[in-house]
Amino acid sequence: MTYITGITKGGSKWTPEFVMAVDNSKCIACGRCYKACSFSCLSLHEDDDDDSAKRYMVLENDDACVGCKACAVACPKKCFTHAPLEA
Ligand code: SF4
Ligand code: SF4
Repeated sequence: MTYITGITKGGSKWTPEFVMAVDNSKCIACGRCYKACSFSCLSLHEDDDDDSAKRYMVLENDDACVGCKACAVACPKKCFTHAPLEA
């Protein structure tokens, strides 16, 4: 299987791991991933259909993901799933 690869500054190949999902059952809405993502892939969602409003992060624009995994590094609750993509 061949995956999409990138090139580092020094010319080495690397395999990006793109964001696949955010587990909102674990999310505490701290916003760390939102601040870490330079590509505006994430958005804070708020359920307001009952009295116990729940906020959690969702994939808003994940087509813009470059697979850097900065969101996963920033997340204290291990909410993110990432994977390489087939070329
Ligand atoms: S992997 Fe990088 S570009 Fe993709 S959502 Fe996470 S921080 Fe943003
Ligand atoms: S860093 Fe993790 S816990 Fe915090 S808002 Fe993002 S997904 Fe939720």
